Amino acid sequence: MKQIIVLATTNKGKTREIKRLLNGFPIDIKNLADFGPIPEVIEDGETFDDNAYKKASFTAKVLGYPAMADDSGLCVEALDGAPGVHSARYAGKNATDADNVKKMLDNLKGQENRNAAFKCVISIAVPTGAALTYEGECKGILTKKPIGDNGFGYDPLFFYPEFNKTFAQLTIEEKGRVSHRGKALKDLAEEMDKILKWIDINMPKFQRVECKGRNS
Ligand code: IMP
Repeated sequence: MKQIIVLATTNKGKTREIKRLLNGFPIDIKNLADFGPIPEVIEDGETFDDNAYKKASFTAKVLGYPAMADDSGLCVEALDGAPGVHSARYAGKNATDADNVKKMLDNLKGQENRNAAFKCVISIAVPTGAALTYEGECKGILTKKPIGDNGFGYDPLFFYPEFNKTFAQLTIEEKGRVSHRGKALKDLAEEMDKILKWIDINMPKFQRVECKGRNS
């Protein structure tokens, strides 16, 4: 029988990418859209690890299935690692990708050190709270203006020297091979057999209690 794993996201793109990478394993990947509405997790952790674990463990507890969540962002050397876990809301609560890119360029004006890294943590948790963690990192250099139309977030600023292109100039497949998320997922996929054993051992076992009737 296939093991159900719930992705703690409603994002179709992420779900498709993860399904593609984990294709061939005896798992049935679902996401939050396959269940009724469940309360939203507030991503207020101080690290990617905190947030990924929070999302995965909460989802596993609420739904009773093993759950998987990721958290990622951009860490800029000249900004002491900012925006990090605040990457999505760098330019404010309802910031768009374009707002965040603009704020980044403004804050780095005149700055020669353009080193940056995308980081990603993936957490797989069971309802008891036990969890496994996978990490991926990708180093690059921030450009002085946006270049390229693909991808999302800070991709147009993230120049990847090995390809001599920004992430926004790569196809999804090219980006997936070298990106922070791609690397964490690759490590996870390589250990999938072990992960499935770990899930089996750590999932709570429910015992049926027989109720004896009066005449038995
Ligand atoms: P999340 O982990 O998907 O919530 O990502 C948080 C934020 O980090 C996104 O909204 C983006 O601003 C940024 N980010 C994470 N991964 C990427 C990426 O692969 N490309 C560009 N931006 C990213």
